[in-house]
Amino acid sequence: MKIAILGFGKSGKSVYDLLVKKNEDEVFVFDDNKLPDKLNFFGQDKSKAFFDMNFDLVVVSPGIPKHHPFIKHALNKNFPIISELEFGFRLTKCKIIAITGTNGKSTTVKLIHNILKKSGKKVLMCGNYGLPLTKAAQVSHLLDYLIVEVSSFQLEFIDTFKPYIAIILNITQDHLSWHGSFQEYKQAKLKIAKNLLNEGFLIRNLDEDYSVDAFNVIGFSTHKDNVEAKVSQNSVTINFKEHFEIKNTKLIGTHNMQNIAAASLASLICNVDKNTILEVAMNQETLPHRLEYVCEIEGVKFYNDSKSTNIDSVRKAIESFENKQDIVIILGGKHKGESYANLMDLLPQLTGVVVFGEDRKKIIAELNKLRPIPLPAVNVKGAVIAAFHIAKPGGIVLFSPGGSSFDQFKNFEERGEAFKAECLAFKEEYDKAP
Ligand code: ADP
Repeated sequence: MKIAILGFGKSGKSVYDLLVKKNEDEVFVFDDNKLPDKLNFFGQDKSKAFFDMNFDLVVVSPGIPKHHPFIKHALNKNFPIISELEFGFRLTKCKIIAITGTNGKSTTVKLIHNILKKSGKKVLMCGNYGLPLTKAAQVSHLLDYLIVEVSSFQLEFIDTFKPYIAIILNITQDHLSWHGSFQEYKQAKLKIAKNLLNEGFLIRNLDEDYSVDAFNVIGFSTHKDNVEAKVSQNSVTINFKEHFEIKNTKLIGTHNMQNIAAASLASLICNVDKNTILEVAMNQETLPHRLEYVCEIEGVKFYNDSKSTNIDSVRKAIESFENKQDIVIILGGKHKGESYANLMDLLPQLTGVVVFGEDRKKIIAELNKLRPIPLPAVNVKGAVIAAFHIAKPGGIVLFSPGGSSFDQFKNFEERGEAFKAECLAFKEEYDKAP
């Protein structure tokens, strides 16, 4: 076959490596960025060569937006288009547990992985979380389950992808520019269940208003009764196969209880006993950059939630603390489309707001009704100092930007590390001062 790979990041590269190893197909790589100087590699200006060729299959990487000219062209020409997720699925030899949602995917993937592993099953995490599925699939004959973190980008171009268990944690606004609209984003997420009409399981948030046709639907909810998992601010009650309650976990907030509910239901489907689920759920620490405690300076506690890159994750971060009035929140980064004014039911309850980064003026303008007026800061260092100075004694500084990190950093990890480093440097200065 004549195969085009669009995008040569981690997932495009995994497809390329596999096809080269198989050595059965003619493989071409296209990317608008620079590519290694190799035969059949078309980077930067040369990528236009795509428009003059014909292909039997096009494998698209998650970095290529749905409305990119490559994709439009491939659709017009009727070339079959699949995502790397679909490509990897076709190679997979074990059951797949696939997790999607606007927020909470990584936390839930990690929980399921740790529970299944503790119960003695052979498992591997992959997808957005580390290894591309195409790589992980190559060892899948040795495994019981692959636990795959799935983005809406990857779901857009699936065909036969069929997980044994699909989880949709939540669908709120994000990535609008990639998909084109919220409706398209939502439709992409719901595709995770498109092949579950006759078998398999769908675990979903029953508080959200959309319908999906699937064979076995199992749900969690904060306010509906008679559900398989009932969630509150600090507990989960399971009523599916077994009856038990999980509370006083290290993970905090209703959103994390939803993650625990989804992970517990998936584990019960895989026949894990309740004691194993309880043990792991009770001891699971938060992942770095998700509501991660950093340090205390003169009684003010600092939390790093750099992974918060949309408005809903800011909301969940604020709601995780009982004493909202003690929070100074640091917002900012690169604006992703949804207005920060959507937080105006919560922000006036806080001590104060600091806004940093490239889009600070835009964000402050969206919050023009807020009093006291948000404080601007150019960068993370400035934001830490400003937030500390307006915090109450015994208060909280919460770094939950809501925007992406690409204005000043490579990724959210680098941004979170910068925040932590600034907090610790500031603490050292304070601790040393007479
Ligand atoms: P993802 O992998 O989907 O980005 P993470 O587990 O890395 O999810 O969490 C991303 C951000 O969203 C963090 O700021 C985290 O505190 C918040 N979060 C985690 N779980 C949820 C949830 N179920 N609903 C809303 N926000 C969540």
